[in-house]
Amino acid sequence: LPLRSTLKTKILFKAGSRCYSSSKPTIKLFIDGKFVESNASEWIDIHNPATNEVIARVPKSTQQEMSAAVDSCARAFRSWSETSILARQQVFLRYQQLIKDNIKELAKCITVEQGKTLGDAEGDVFRGLQVVEHACSITSLMLGETLPSITKDMDTYTYRLPLGVCAGIAPFNFPAMIPLWMFPMGMVCGNTYLLKPSERVPTCAVLLAKLLQDAGAPDGTLNIIHGQHDAVNFICDHPTIKAISFVGSNQAGEYIYERGSKNGKRVQSNMGAKNHGVVMPDANKENTLNQLVGAAFGAAGQRCMALSTAILVGEARGWLPELVERTKALRVNAGDQPGADVGPLISPQAKQRVCSLIQSAEDEGAKVLLDGRRVKVTGYENGNFVGPTIIGNVTPQMRCYTEEIFGPVLVVLEADTLDDAIHLVNGNPYGNGTAIFTTNGATARKYTHEVDVGQVGVNVPIPVPLPMFSFTGSRGSFRGDMNFYGKQGIQFYTQIKTITSQWKAEDATLKGPAVTMPTMG
Ligand code: NAD
Repeated sequence: LPLRSTLKTKILFKAGSRCYSSSKPTIKLFIDGKFVESNASEWIDIHNPATNEVIARVPKSTQQEMSAAVDSCARAFRSWSETSILARQQVFLRYQQLIKDNIKELAKCITVEQGKTLGDAEGDVFRGLQVVEHACSITSLMLGETLPSITKDMDTYTYRLPLGVCAGIAPFNFPAMIPLWMFPMGMVCGNTYLLKPSERVPTCAVLLAKLLQDAGAPDGTLNIIHGQHDAVNFICDHPTIKAISFVGSNQAGEYIYERGSKNGKRVQSNMGAKNHGVVMPDANKENTLNQLVGAAFGAAGQRCMALSTAILVGEARGWLPELVERTKALRVNAGDQPGADVGPLISPQAKQRVCSLIQSAEDEGAKVLLDGRRVKVTGYENGNFVGPTIIGNVTPQMRCYTEEIFGPVLVVLEADTLDDAIHLVNGNPYGNGTAIFTTNGATARKYTHEVDVGQVGVNVPIPVPLPMFSFTGSRGSFRGDMNFYGKQGIQFYTQIKTITSQWKAEDATLKGPAVTMPTMG
């Protein structure tokens, strides 16, 4: 097996599909260990968000291609699930090294398709890589339990076993990290995997599949299909697929949770967010303002854990002008340009949506303190840029507060006390992440205990847990009962078999059939 792999994108993409007269490259499917051109009659344009140029085309996979992919997963499951756990671990040990070796290549492809800055794109890959590294601990993670001498000569023990074919449906905002939350954890447990990347950023997932193949994953253990609703429905309905991991919007996530569950599948569905940063007047002002600005506007606010809402408590209200001043220093530019802090949004529609939410805030009586709607980026006039925007005087009924904006917009509310702030956060339908900024331990403790949100940071603006823990979004941000990665991820991708056995030194013969319920006592 190669210890090194250099991504050669030519292998994966073909200039000029037979279905298109255009010379734009087409994104291939990954079926049964081969990168293949789709026979699709419908294709989706992929744009560079900084320029809106079409850079490639992705197919809407045909039913035949999707069936071939799932059949390949099912065939591969027979041998992969029986492959020794040490051999599976070795694949992921090699995989983590190959991802590290190719992190810059992967980041470049993320920036071109998704728009985020190169540094941020490397972070995207890195946070996914950490999950792969964690998957390498599978020999401990997948241990069952034992209890000897349940009764005389009788022992009980459990195995964790893979489910079969699992599937992942990914969003556009983390082209590397989120697919890497999915198939490595699923596969290392012995499942085979069908991935449907976001149709807006499919290339990174295909490159990750190439690296996985180079790391020694057998043909069919990972298959990739492309598309939109038809591909999603195919996954929700196909009887061979046992579990679905979804990350994306509430609209899609609730639908997939219902349709997949109805068909008897396990579904974990990570969805939208409205993350509040509560700023106490005793906080370290310098750190807090810097952290707020970074967490609100990094990745142009297109992170599910972005701190998109600030609640200034008591005298911290007076910090607002300084928050605005610091934000003005951020540089809006194409993600591959040196010094860029805030890249473009994913699409003109996303830009239009964000701008209309800013307008709605103004119409409803909020005050736009910093307005990024008319930002100009020289050389990238056609890009989907919105500059950092701060909206003050916001009340909980306004649309800019009730809806997820998913752009570089910070809405600011005020509260008299910590209790008022907690009340606000708990009244919001989403429960993904939150942070409190304070130097008082008792305040922090009260907040972490009383707030009803899955992931809480204390002076940590984006508390995305490392993979030895799980990503624990809750309430309107999550459907399902087992979260992504960590112990819960292993639980999601395995089922438990419990074995009770009795071995007597001398086999005593029963005097007659025991027809009463065995009590094992
Ligand atoms: P999206 O829901 O539009 O797309 C996600 C996936 O679902 C894509 O693969 C897409 O093809 C498919 N899809 C889209 N609409 C669908 C529909 N109506 N029916 C069936 N399938 C559909 O999400 P997005 O715009 O790519 O991602 C942004 C969203 O994801 C935001 O809401 C963000 O908060 C959320 N997100 C959540 C987390 C988390 O862990 N909670 C992480 C990242 C992103």
